[in-house]
Amino acid sequence: MNVKCKDFNLLFKHRFTISKGSKTHQPTLIIELDYFGVKGYGEAPAISYYNIPIEKMKEDLEQKKVFLEKFAFSDPERYWHYLHHLFPNNSFLVCALDMAGWDLHGKIKRKQLHELWKLDTGKTPVTDFTIGIDTIENMVAKMNERPWPIYKIKVGVEGDMEMVAALRKHTDAIFRVDANAGWTLEEALQKIPKLKELGVELVEQPLAKDNWEGMKTLFQQSVLPLMADESCVAESDVEKCHQHFHGINIKLTKCSGITPARRMIAKARQLDMKIMVGCMNESSVGTAAIAQLAPMVDFIDMDGPLLLSEDTASGVGFDFGKIIYTHGPGLGITINPF
Ligand code: MG
Repeated sequence: MNVKCKDFNLLFKHRFTISKGSKTHQPTLIIELDYFGVKGYGEAPAISYYNIPIEKMKEDLEQKKVFLEKFAFSDPERYWHYLHHLFPNNSFLVCALDMAGWDLHGKIKRKQLHELWKLDTGKTPVTDFTIGIDTIENMVAKMNERPWPIYKIKVGVEGDMEMVAALRKHTDAIFRVDANAGWTLEEALQKIPKLKELGVELVEQPLAKDNWEGMKTLFQQSVLPLMADESCVAESDVEKCHQHFHGINIKLTKCSGITPARRMIAKARQLDMKIMVGCMNESSVGTAAIAQLAPMVDFIDMDGPLLLSEDTASGVGFDFGKIIYTHGPGLGITINPF
């Protein structure tokens, strides 16, 4: 097995602002596995508040490359276990390698992953489109630029209720809000009923990620479903979120790939929790991987390629929120080999 990587710094269409900060570019790492001429690709974007920059991914990869190249690849799940032990502190890198392993596996089997897993893509929910924090005028302009059935609005900053109320005047679309851990319990208790009146269907990560006490109270009183994002990173967090959130937002990068994400989906279903699959502004490689899991979930937030003005590959398409699958094997992407 040959392992290569290439990093990109992809420009956003509009400056991307959430309650934690603002950026114009998305750094991302693409992995290429070459197994006797069959190539598999995976992606991990760097997210500053998770503290794994591209340099750290590249450094760790370089250090253990010899072990990766020696590994006798047979199936992606066994590969993930190996990766997980090889890079215990780098879930992002494990994600990119795991994804590449699944792409390779699908290509060897000549099937797209959702076909291998026998999923019905006809059941895939539509994806939302994210409107980052901006002036109300600019947020309205962003909505008008992309008419969409569901918008995810970033809140958790001062004046956020006025922002949602103002946007409501311009569209009948479903709204979802994501506070990115930006509210106190008191604020959340006061804001959520009003958000329901404004046609919001769910609230993502209202409180600080470790405010379990506050979440327990909010969970009992909330009139809207509460989805855990920053509070649900690893597999073991699914159980912790039970009875504190109505559902979880699974992201491949934070949980370390497709392999653990599938187990998290199974666990959440067992606990009767709602499941959202989210993104971290992945380009088309990572987004095509998310799309493979999409038929299994209740809510999708998978708009990376729509927010970015540059891409690393082509793959999944979008039609007014509907996900359009390609016919290629593995992740179903087309990419220029490194
Ligand atoms: Mg979120």
